[in-house]
Amino acid sequence: MQISSLRRLLDTPPAPYAPSGPAGSAARRTALRARVERLARVEPAHREVRVTASTVTVRDGLRREDLTLASPARGAFRAVLLSPENSSSETSTEGEPTPLPGVLVLGGKNARLDHLTGATPPDHPDRDIAARLARAGFTTLALDHGIGGGLDPDRLAGRDEGALLAHAFALTGHSLLGALTGDALGALEVLRAHPLADAGRTGLFGHSLGAAVALHTALLTDRPLPLCAAAHLGSYPALYGRLLTGFEGAALPGVLEHADLPDLYAALAPAPLQLQYGTRDPYLETADARAAAESVRRAYEEAGAPEPDVLELPMGHGTHPVHAAEFFARELAGAPAHPAPVPAQRVRFTVAERRTVLERVDGALASGVLTQGPLVARFEELTRDWTGTPGTAVASGSAALEIALRTIGVAGRTVLVPVNTFFATAAAAVRAGGRARFVDVELDGLGMDPDALRTALERWPDTAAVVPVHIGGILSPALDGVLAACAEHGIPVLEDAAHAFGSTLGERPAGSLGRFGAFSFFPTKVALSGEGGLLTSAAPGDLEDVRRWRDHGKSAQGSTLHDRPGGNWRLSELHAALGTVDLERFARTLSARRSLAAHYDTLLKDVPSLRPHPVPPEAGSNYYKYLAHLDGPVDRDTLKSRLRERHGVRLAGEVYDHLLCDHPYFRDATGPGELFPRGRWFARHHIALPLYPSLTHEEQIRVVSALRCELS
Ligand SMILES: *Cc1c(COP(=O)(O)O)cnc(C)c1O
Repeated sequence: MQISSLRRLLDTPPAPYAPSGPAGSAARRTALRARVERLARVEPAHREVRVTASTVTVRDGLRREDLTLASPARGAFRAVLLSPENSSSETSTEGEPTPLPGVLVLGGKNARLDHLTGATPPDHPDRDIAARLARAGFTTLALDHGIGGGLDPDRLAGRDEGALLAHAFALTGHSLLGALTGDALGALEVLRAHPLADAGRTGLFGHSLGAAVALHTALLTDRPLPLCAAAHLGSYPALYGRLLTGFEGAALPGVLEHADLPDLYAALAPAPLQLQYGTRDPYLETADARAAAESVRRAYEEAGAPEPDVLELPMGHGTHPVHAAEFFARELAGAPAHPAPVPAQRVRFTVAERRTVLERVDGALASGVLTQGPLVARFEELTRDWTGTPGTAVASGSAALEIALRTIGVAGRTVLVPVNTFFATAAAAVRAGGRARFVDVELDGLGMDPDALRTALERWPDTAAVVPVHIGGILSPALDGVLAACAEHGIPVLEDAAHAFGSTLGERPAGSLGRFGAFSFFPTKVALSGEGGLLTSAAPGDLEDVRRWRDHGKSAQGSTLHDRPGGNWRLSELHAALGTVDLERFARTLSARRSLAAHYDTLLKDVPSLRPHPVPPEAGSNYYKYLAHLDGPVDRDTLKSRLRERHGVRLAGEVYDHLLCDHPYFRDATGPGELFPRGRWFARHHIALPLYPSLTHEEQIRVVSALRCELS
């Protein structure tokens, strides 16, 4: 290949999807980080780096800890932790060493660990950056990147070992940079956990290839970290195509489709950033590096972030240690940054899961089958493990409810729903031509109250269907009373199981107790497909009816004659691509939710004015909501805003804060004397704590301490 065509090859301007609008710049940064995460393919397991051995020595005023780290991606590798000797002897009153701000040091491709740490005289004057930063008052952790020295020199025959390694990674669809970044993310946790380092004040330093690793590490951490990057600046086309200085390990394969190097630095905003480059660096062009720095500066400005520290220096392919030390001293001086907020909801997919979804979407696009195809069939099959009953996929939970009520035939008649449920339960009855009437709830399992139901059945003798709802994922033991009352009157039961995928009552799964069970796969629910729903029924004839309703009421499959006013209530293959991946991980979702709930049970034991809702022992809840009751004079809105503003903690939405009878649309659906006292008490007094599989124990502790602080 000619050089000219190499240049042309690299000259593809990135065409990333750019969300617009007021939040555009922040959304672009988030989207770019997500792409980097996918290209780097760093899975949570890759970050699990452990210390397997350590030896401490003291020399020339530095305490040196030689560590062996074990990473799942590449086995054992060396690292050295340095700190000023006096900081380890200078102890606080409790006898603990005083932690110093920490810096993770990532050297260039040819840097040896002993050079970085000053154990042997540096081969370049500024190579011993880890030692210099330690002398300046930081605890540093320097990593041996392990490129070079492992392959048989005879077979290598002079070829570059790093390049061979990079090609081997490429064969597997992974990358050397991704592997190095995984190690660095793990090492960052090792540094934070070290008693000599202050977990809340850590930064990243990288030189050359190490700067690329540090940049990608910073892009994949969950909190903004100060980064000093030396001798790695410019545009990828210039570095690789014009200067031919690119080293395989320094860029992610495919990155240029999404972003150029300056865009990656820009995506770090608002994290503090120092960029150092030398005017005599043979591996970069000063004008190109300057232009890159300018574009980063502009992006920081646009993001409203503090200006990055750009240093154009009269040096070669090196580092200016004094400027680096000043940068970290400035940026790590303050109190630890406020921890990231705990959101009410977090929908998260691992990189491997995202890739599987994309593979399935790609398969659908390649086959041209975009709706009601093999993925929908697979989705239906997977749900059966959790419902114990055959199901038909539909477009949404509300479509499922409406179709069930149309199949039952409620037009012109009454449908009884609990007074405390989502609007969609009752609205489906109206759309199916029925009249929604409300029944009070019981406060044990939060289900429809059987006695109140019997009263309502007498009052509304034209009742065509009863729709109990499994609030918060709890199948109430009182449901048996509801089923019995309905059986006596010969009235079919439709479970609104939108909250309850995977929940059980004794041995019976949600969706198996009535004639129909309706589920939603909306993103906030426990299982999700983006948009989607499911209707279960043990009667094959009912499911055949459902299939006709969902497809415009065709009188038979493939027929062009229609025998009912059906709708477009189909699930697309693209939604099923997501839904199948989510169902394949559902066992883990469920056990994570249950163990987090058990952890809350323990943590909340002695929080004043707050009582976790006791889930009845027969109910196997999926903990769609972790519910608790506020006792005493606590105002819920005030509590919620204080938790948000003072602690960064957001509570999940209530189920529900308004009763159906209080919505303007249902103003006329309630008669005099219908007061629903239990539903009203519940609506007013409960809260829901954040609970989702990616919630950590640390976050749970923060939630509970915030509650304790506000309620004491
Ligand atoms: C979410 C929900 C629905 C509606 O589901 P969609 O998929 O949004 O249509 C119905 N009932 C209850 C109780 C719900 O929580």
